[in-house]
Amino acid sequence: MPNWAIHLIVPLLALLIVGRKEDHKYILLLLPLAVLPDIDTFVIEHRALLHNIFIPAILFFIGLSIKKMRSIFFIAGVYFVSHVILDLFAGGVVLFYPVYNQMAFIDASLEMSRTNQLLWTFDYGFNDYSEGWKIAQGYISDSVGTGSLVIVLVAGIWASYRNRMVGKEDK
Ligand SMILES: [Zn+2]
Repeated sequence: MPNWAIHLIVPLLALLIVGRKEDHKYILLLLPLAVLPDIDTFVIEHRALLHNIFIPAILFFIGLSIKKMRSIFFIAGVYFVSHVILDLFAGGVVLFYPVYNQMAFIDASLEMSRTNQLLWTFDYGFNDYSEGWKIAQGYISDSVGTGSLVIVLVAGIWASYRNRMVGKEDK
């Protein structure tokens, strides 16, 4: 995974921007779904079993069919699909698992070289789904991710503390 913080914050922000106010509670409650796909690490089909296009497609389809539960399934679908897209840009995912077991990837970056030249990388396609990905080694949260989570956590504590203070003043 890119890191926990990115997987959580990117779809959360997108949903809070797009979502209606009455859906905010579902947006917060379903947030764990943004990192849920990574539990496929434990079944040795990492970046495949839960990192494909079919699971979010099913969620969106259920949302379309059941009007009463639409926003819940759409929010769940967005969390799933955002995870898959972010991993697509960070190494790749077996997008059409189990129908087509190659790893789709997109590599897009812009960097500054030592000689101050801009280096633009853009590449995409399919790679072999190698053993290295299947058994998934690496960071659960890298250093930047941990730092980002600390900042968001402090903001959350601050906000609830402030709300409590405001609540007391009102009484
Ligand atoms: Zn992942």
